[in-house]
Amino acid sequence: MHSNNTDTIVQLIHDFVSFKTVSSGSDIIKEELINFIELFVQKVGLQTYKFYRNGKPSMLIYHPQKENWNFSLLLHGHIDVVHAHEEQYHTFINEGRIHGRGTLDMKGSVAVFVLLLKNLYLSNQLSPNVGIMLTSDEEQGGVDGVKYLLDEESITSDFFITGEPTDLYIVNRHKGVWRSKLTIQGTSAHSSTPWLGENSLHKTSKYISDFVAKNPQPLSSEWKSTYSFNKIESGDSINKIPDVSSVWIDIRFTTNEELNNLISSINEIFKDVEIETLFTSPPLETSEDNEKIKKLNNIIQVKLRNKSELHSKEYATDARYASLHNIPAIVFGPSGNGIHEVDEYVEISSLEKYYEILEDFCMNFK
Ligand SMILES: [Zn+2]
Repeated sequence: MHSNNTDTIVQLIHDFVSFKTVSSGSDIIKEELINFIELFVQKVGLQTYKFYRNGKPSMLIYHPQKENWNFSLLLHGHIDVVHAHEEQYHTFINEGRIHGRGTLDMKGSVAVFVLLLKNLYLSNQLSPNVGIMLTSDEEQGGVDGVKYLLDEESITSDFFITGEPTDLYIVNRHKGVWRSKLTIQGTSAHSSTPWLGENSLHKTSKYISDFVAKNPQPLSSEWKSTYSFNKIESGDSINKIPDVSSVWIDIRFTTNEELNNLISSINEIFKDVEIETLFTSPPLETSEDNEKIKKLNNIIQVKLRNKSELHSKEYATDARYASLHNIPAIVFGPSGNGIHEVDEYVEISSLEKYYEILEDFCMNFK
């Protein structure tokens, strides 16, 4: 890879990270970064289009001759990050790694995408059917980003790659998410006379242990659905039997059938429960026989060797929304460590490989 490219990628990442695009923070800063990226690609003549939904900016980047938003390939990246300490917004390089918030998740991938499209365009090798989709709400569920753009802005693609870090493996499956609040009723009474009431917290705790006993979980990473009860709320006083308790459950499922089984089990065990679904998103499941996956895999094999198998992941990504539109989608991104942690970094060498692989791959699209 041309060392100029590496320098530009490093510089872009440094600039991107300095924008504090914290998911739950200011949308204006996210817009500033989107504008910064827009300037970078507009300078060479690439086309952009910006979208806003609930304050969250998104942007498409594509060939100026493209007349519609039906793409053959969309490279997706999110520019929002999770909360960080002040010093994490200044990148530094050590032993071939760029440290800083969002370097891996996933401003590094975004830097590769924009430089790649710019270079392909300047050398007349960019297909009008290849584009970049940038969004700013992935860490909050992607509803105002990828979901909105595909559902309501009539953007389509024959293939969709989200650049979340995968250590340069292709991830074609990940789990779906179902989050709900379960509310259990009881009867209140003074705590000195518990027999006069029905303690909703005691009921809830029994239901939870019955549920856990009935639905054993894998003890290590397996392609199976999992769940956990992560939050509980009950009572308003130390000397009063609580008449209402709520517990939040987070299910990560591999198939709709498995999700339905777990929901049935909730209904069976949690008597008179009120279920309020707070968030749900489908699993990602793209056939490994997909021609584009095979093509990309061949390129990876040539460039990296030994790195050809497909992977499944536990975590969810915005690729799920492409799946809902029957767009074959995968997760494919660089290497590094420390996502959402105090020391997040991306490997520069993996960004170089990432660039080269995507460059080859993009050439296949006419
Ligand atoms: Zn991410």
